[in-house]
Amino acid sequence: MLTDMLNRPLLDLRISVTDRCNFRCTYCMPADEGQKYCFMKRSELMTFEEIVRLAKLFVSLGVRKIRLTGGEPLLRKDIDQLVGMLDNIEGLEDLSMTTNGFLLKRYAASLKKAGLKRINVSLDALDDEVFAAINGVGAKSSRILEGMDEAVRQGMKVKVNMVVKRGMNDSQILPMAAYFKEKGITLRFIEFMDVGSLNGWKLDEVVTSKEIYNMISKEMPLEPLKENYYGEVAKRCRYVGTDIEVGFISSVSQPFCGDCTRCRLSADGKIYTCLFAARGTDLLSSMRNGASDEELAAQIKCVWDVRCDRYSQERGKNPTYKGKRIEMSYIGG
Ligand code: SAM
Ligand code: SF4
Ligand code: SF4
Repeated sequence: MLTDMLNRPLLDLRISVTDRCNFRCTYCMPADEGQKYCFMKRSELMTFEEIVRLAKLFVSLGVRKIRLTGGEPLLRKDIDQLVGMLDNIEGLEDLSMTTNGFLLKRYAASLKKAGLKRINVSLDALDDEVFAAINGVGAKSSRILEGMDEAVRQGMKVKVNMVVKRGMNDSQILPMAAYFKEKGITLRFIEFMDVGSLNGWKLDEVVTSKEIYNMISKEMPLEPLKENYYGEVAKRCRYVGTDIEVGFISSVSQPFCGDCTRCRLSADGKIYTCLFAARGTDLLSSMRNGASDEELAAQIKCVWDVRCDRYSQERGKNPTYKGKRIEMSYIGG
């Protein structure tokens, strides 16, 4: 097992399959592609064979969980084929995907058939006006909810992720909690993070997990649950008297860098050891220049050996940092 400078094992890999998206969530991606922001060229993207080759190497180095993300992963052509190829990797224990759900109704059956058992769907509001103002393209929540229903119908385990930003969608916390409690689907609240350098993050726009917990438990009492596994990022609770869970991902108010076992692989084949990294290590160029599996594994090992990132724990020391950072839509959250 590989461990970094802070003794954290490499256990999880997030693979971004595209940096493109059919949404323009205000907290994630600027509305227009422009000088500050341009998408990768098709030739720069890893092919499925390249992704699978790297994924196998990561698994041989200790990775047990892989999550597909983006940009929007369902925009990548034939994504179900990639799911099938990854699902065949020996030693991989868990394969999942994070999606905005806009295309989920169409793809749920083929994803399930290819081997995807779990999916996280991001949804920040039920109210269409609030949701449209966030997603930037006028998408309606009913379309995302139908996608989730279809995924459940196909037998997938669905969780919902909601980023909460003060003044943007805090009005939606209780309606979302009540809706997903009724449905029996786990809803996880994510604190608005200062990822990238284009989302105009301000600390006072972060609605903390504690605030959200208090708001919900006044209406629907909650009780805490024990950690499921080492490195679990969401603090889990359940509604008293039920098995229905809610989760809180407190990246800002209670950072969890000490247990961060994640590596991120961008769609153009660079690895990032932290969500807040300024630069990555280019595995794809090495691969296209003829590196052997041993050489690529050694490159990954070198990166993890010297990893000492703990940005969120140190955020307080440098709250006005304005330097260059990788954007969320490049490495997928
Ligand atoms: N497009 C897919 C989606 O939205 O689910 C996958 C990629 S998206 C970058 C992954 C997750 O990151 C989403 O749940 C999104 O809400 C979250 N995210 C993006 N920007 C964020 C921010 N500034 N703070 C907290 N979460 C963020
Ligand atoms: Fe797209 Fe996901 Fe970012 Fe929203 S959060 S803009 S859906 S990548
Ligand atoms: Fe991991 Fe970096 Fe987030 Fe800390 S700030 S939890 S090291 S990704």
